[in-house]
Amino acid sequence: MLRLGIDLGGTKTEIIALDDVGRELLRKRVTTERGDYDVTLQTIVSLVDDTERELGDRGSVGIGTPGALSPATGLMRNCNSTWLNGQALRDDLIQRLDRDVLIENDANCFALSEATDGAGAGHRVVFGVILGTGVGGGVVVDGKLLTGPNRIAGEWGHNPLPWPRDEERPGPACYCGKNGCIETFLCGPALSRDHAQHNGMEISTHEIVSAAAQGEACSLASLERYEDRLARALANVINILDPDVIVLGGGMSNIPRWHQRVPELWTQWVFSDRVDTPLLRNRHGDSSGVRGAAWLGS
Ligand SMILES: [Zn+2]
Repeated sequence: MLRLGIDLGGTKTEIIALDDVGRELLRKRVTTERGDYDVTLQTIVSLVDDTERELGDRGSVGIGTPGALSPATGLMRNCNSTWLNGQALRDDLIQRLDRDVLIENDANCFALSEATDGAGAGHRVVFGVILGTGVGGGVVVDGKLLTGPNRIAGEWGHNPLPWPRDEERPGPACYCGKNGCIETFLCGPALSRDHAQHNGMEISTHEIVSAAAQGEACSLASLERYEDRLARALANVINILDPDVIVLGGGMSNIPRWHQRVPELWTQWVFSDRVDTPLLRNRHGDSSGVRGAAWLGS
């Protein structure tokens, strides 16, 4: 069976076609026309039509987007592509594509992709983490996304940073209206902002990582503060969910030392005499969003 996945992003819209075993049959991307909902619908319909014509087959359709469908209203919410908010995206696509369409946020698509045939394959409970512009997460159990009545399962980014140290209180203001959310400490810009606060000079994540690799003490200290926070935040997840594996994704996950250092640190926070949870690098990288969207249809 053909599975079509669409990654509906703020700047580009991408489609992928997978076969039963996850082989990529086709991939195409177009620029997202910002601000016009009808154009967004038409873009998705054209991508699906063109793909199916080219492959000579009809497929299931899953959509990954940074926002979410409200279970109460069936309308989109929390989209940073703001023209989607308040729209009945799923119903409109079901009607235009004449089949069921599933929509999930990009962290859930990431988790599903890595659990299905990525780094988490073969594990029962997979916690997929996005450390990117935002901090999100998704939970896959026995190959299926855990959703829940509020559809926020795995959304750990707006929990408070656990076991805060004195200098971490109340923590940076978050766009959600609270202070000290995990996202404000672990998102893409957080490392360089934290470095600037301690050293008075703003340099990029990349510059901090390479300076630390050369033994520069202040940059090394910034990485250590970040991984200490990541360890505490993930220890909290392990205490509640105890997943079989945790897979890291997003731009901030590409720093190799996290994978060794964080499991060394989290043992002191997990309520267990030893911690055997593997912390893995993702397999599909930036493709996990669109691949996970395709797996929604299985
Ligand atoms: Zn928040």
